[in-house]
Amino acid sequence: MIVFFHPNTTNTQKAELQLHLKQAGFESQLVQPKDICIVPNLKDAAAIEKFSFVSSTKLIDTSYQLSSLEYKKETNFLVNNNQVGTNFVNFIAGPCSVETEEQIFETAALLAKHNIPFIRGGAYKPRTSPYSFRGLGKDGLKLLQQAAKQYKLSVVTELMDLSLLDEVQQYTDVIQIGSRNMSNFYLLSELGKIETPIMLKRGIQANVQEWLLAADYIMCGGNENIILCERGIRSFDPLSRNVMDVGVIPLVQSLSHLPILADPSHGTGEAKFVAPLAKASLVAGANGLMIEIHPNPKKALSDSRQALSFDEFENLMADIELLKPTIKKPINATYSVFQ
Ligand code: PEP
Ligand code: MN
Repeated sequence: MIVFFHPNTTNTQKAELQLHLKQAGFESQLVQPKDICIVPNLKDAAAIEKFSFVSSTKLIDTSYQLSSLEYKKETNFLVNNNQVGTNFVNFIAGPCSVETEEQIFETAALLAKHNIPFIRGGAYKPRTSPYSFRGLGKDGLKLLQQAAKQYKLSVVTELMDLSLLDEVQQYTDVIQIGSRNMSNFYLLSELGKIETPIMLKRGIQANVQEWLLAADYIMCGGNENIILCERGIRSFDPLSRNVMDVGVIPLVQSLSHLPILADPSHGTGEAKFVAPLAKASLVAGANGLMIEIHPNPKKALSDSRQALSFDEFENLMADIELLKPTIKKPINATYSVFQ
């Protein structure tokens, strides 16, 4: 249940309500910037409507509250000049890791050529083995920002740890929270206190409820600029890196106001499967794609098997152009070479 307060409700009154709820056995959470209180397990509004400073209540019958469709119908926001959200389709592309100046500038030039507004690239990489390339760190962030500036792109990069928040925030427009950190609840709640949009990837074994609750962790602090990203889940089958869960796209959209992107690169782990799953995801209603590309995929220092070459990426974009009548939502990219 969401409790709304009359304007000018004091902190003492809110504390009084919370104490009353606690004594009745209900946990509650104030969402300060929104001036609301969430009481997830409370079903009977009569118990609190007697407080004169409570203006109204809204019953939300799911464990996740703020990410639910009952809380709001859509989430749309601007990143620089780009409209992102439930009503739009956006593309994010770039290498798994920022490796060299040449690599990242060539990639940025390709994206700019097609008016694709977002460049991605990892500077602090979560690698399964400590002996693998772990990214260029701050130097990588700098290169990414320089390339983005030159080609007027917005940056998406991963934040691995709270200790890097200030640094990453300086260089990025959207903070990516990777699948390994989807359940890092302390990190998530700290991200609620900032205004930078968050792209929250699905945990490798997370069900939809857990994923939406992770989004609630961020929203509880007041940051509602969240994009979900399906990146495949782990299965029992050693032949696929992950199982790209295309079905989760309409499922999430039936439950949540948050936009959902698809990442078929990590979702499949294999370049030749990226295009079919990218197209399937868009037709299933995704609000965009995140695709790993590399000027020379064989030489990529991380995730080389799943990186598309520039040609493969352009072919995918041309195919997507043909899908436009099915996609319906406005796409924030124009494929100049194909027009
Ligand atoms: C990534 O996008 O670079 C990444 C590491 O993805 P994930 O967290 O989904 O594994
Ligand atoms: Mn990767």
